[in-house]
Amino acid sequence: VWEKCLQVIKANVPEQSFKTWFEPIVPFRLAGKTLTIQVPSQFFYEWLEENYIHVLRRALDHAIGRDGQLEYSIIVDTGGDRQPPIKVHVPTTNSPEAAEARQKAASEPKKATPQPPRSPDSSELDLYLNPTYSFDNYIEGDCNRLARSAGMAVAQRPGVTSFNPLLIYGGVGLGKTHLVQAIGNHIKGHHHDKFVLYVSSEKFTNQFINAIKSNTLQDFTDFYMKVDALILDDVQFLSGKEKTQDTFFHIFNHLHQSGRQIIMTSDRRPSELQGLQDRLLSRFKWGLTADLQQPDFETRIAIIQRKLQAEGIYIEYSVIEYIAHSVNTNVRELEGVIISLMAQASLVRRDIDLDLAKVVMKNIVTAEDREVNIDTIQEIVSDYYDVSIADLKGKSRKKELVYPRQVAMYFAKELTDLSLKSIGYHFGGRDHSTVIHAIQTISDLMEQDDSVKDAVQKIRSTFS
Ligand code: ADP
Ligand code: MG
Repeated sequence: VWEKCLQVIKANVPEQSFKTWFEPIVPFRLAGKTLTIQVPSQFFYEWLEENYIHVLRRALDHAIGRDGQLEYSIIVDTGGDRQPPIKVHVPTTNSPEAAEARQKAASEPKKATPQPPRSPDSSELDLYLNPTYSFDNYIEGDCNRLARSAGMAVAQRPGVTSFNPLLIYGGVGLGKTHLVQAIGNHIKGHHHDKFVLYVSSEKFTNQFINAIKSNTLQDFTDFYMKVDALILDDVQFLSGKEKTQDTFFHIFNHLHQSGRQIIMTSDRRPSELQGLQDRLLSRFKWGLTADLQQPDFETRIAIIQRKLQAEGIYIEYSVIEYIAHSVNTNVRELEGVIISLMAQASLVRRDIDLDLAKVVMKNIVTAEDREVNIDTIQEIVSDYYDVSIADLKGKSRKKELVYPRQVAMYFAKELTDLSLKSIGYHFGGRDHSTVIHAIQTISDLMEQDDSVKDAVQKIRSTFS
């Protein structure tokens, strides 16, 4: 019967996963319709349950029938004293809804062992790598060039480059998870013998806590020490968690010493990672640290186009431009706007045009999302005219800088409560008469020149 199960499993999981998770299983007995399998550890059992429940169900259906049941028997080895196997009965449902099966599983076997936390993504097969994230659909721009190319190098030659560990940091929604997932997928796709593992720091911590509770810390570390490429997402989560950090430190050292690749992300630069042990932080410096910045205008355009293409949707370039101007915080927000736009379009059965985009944007980018302050104004104006903020505040009298500077001052007066004097202060310490002159100039230009008027309106609409 187990042979039959294995056939199904083999056909449904990657070879590496099959080796790691199914070859070590020993069929124990078949009583009626209940198959008992022996697994090496609690951790192993949890992992199977969390990641392979669908496949196991399918295998049982095939080998025994829909009323086939599965029991795990965990070999507990307490320091030489081999105890009788603890039996964990895991009811499997006939319903294809594996979620239900997991729920039941979560509520019943408690008598034997503490339950692992069931995370929302537990239905994801294959070790948490999401194949939709690739380098192909990771748009390159100035904002991510170093991180992306370092990631590519690591993906091609894991553990071999000097980028070990590779630490990617950047604010929320800037593409950290996407990038490291792309690295993982690439390694997996090109190095079949490598065991790639993506895990969030939160999940890592939970697994660690469970391992402590169930006295299986050794299994936990053994397991992680087998990984060829470890991707740990959001390490800032480990802040203040001393015990988890201790264990990660040991795993890190072991992996690093044996030439395995370590990839991490963080929402801030390492020097700002408070609550992380110095010995860990100093290890991070052994490799490469690369940041992700907010995407610039061109990159935002490319990301929107890519997204629309993936959705099979065409919209006019002016609309794309409008969105790229309006949303300059992060990529996630950008995607959110596109999704709302598509939803709205289908709801009101209308093509996506500029008017619709404006309506949607009004609802999304509210004042509380984007507080209009002098920094935002300078950012938006510098973006719009493609000049740097430093130039906006700088001394240069070049026409192509003076004009955007005046526009920015104009908006500072219109949209903030700042006095003329403090506006001047925010533009490189200019005095209030310069600010008055700027406002006057832009007002006049708007009267005389429609293109100036249009530009001002376009910029203004991004604040609303
Ligand atoms: P983070 O982990 O930094 O919070 P994510 O990786 O989850 O950010 O990215 C948020 C969203 O933006 C995801 O849907 C991701 O696919 C997308 N994204 C981010 N950067 C890019 C990029 N350079 N090209 C295409 N999509 C991107
Ligand atoms: Mg992330």
